Amino acid sequence: MPQTAVYPGSFDPPTLGHLDIVERASHLFDSLIVAVGENSAKQSYLSVQDRIEALRECTLDNPAIQVEAFSGLLVDFVRSKSSRVVVRGLRAVSDFEYEARVAMANRRLAPEIETVFLFTRDEFSFLSSSVVREVAELGGDFSGFVPEAVKRIIERSRGAGRA
Ligand code: ADP
Repeated sequence: MPQTAVYPGSFDPPTLGHLDIVERASHLFDSLIVAVGENSAKQSYLSVQDRIEALRECTLDNPAIQVEAFSGLLVDFVRSKSSRVVVRGLRAVSDFEYEARVAMANRRLAPEIETVFLFTRDEFSFLSSSVVREVAELGGDFSGFVPEAVKRIIERSRGAGRA
């Protein structure tokens, strides 16, 4: 049976580290759904629509990758896609504690779903969406941290916000 995996996250904004995990996961599974979380309680940097558009542009050349919004419980979303695999990325030991707690909670909720961790390339291990947001807001050059499409969408959205 073809295996679909779900890679969930905020992707606010997507970074080269996220895209590295997307690429690695796409080699391991028949198809991959990148699930962009809608968190109504949290003020986001980019809208869900912009984050989805950015990720779609970055993954256009691979028809096995889909990008979708999700809200609510992750395990419900994963089940609704007939998937049994959640992919998460790990940068450093500091990610481990939080990721382990979430993975164990999800296993309690849905024992049939496995969480698979992929390590980022070491050159992206310092990279996070919050680093990108800070550098961008302070007017720094963040082009080495995100794909070109993401840079364009950040400039479009933040430029429009300030005008
Ligand atoms: P969340 O708010 O769900 O943690 P993020 O968008 O911050 O969403 O992260 C989504 C996933 O990508 C997480 O598993 C996170 O550890 C991973 N991730 C974030 N940045 C990187 C990176 N530079 N390299 C590899 N994985 C990363």
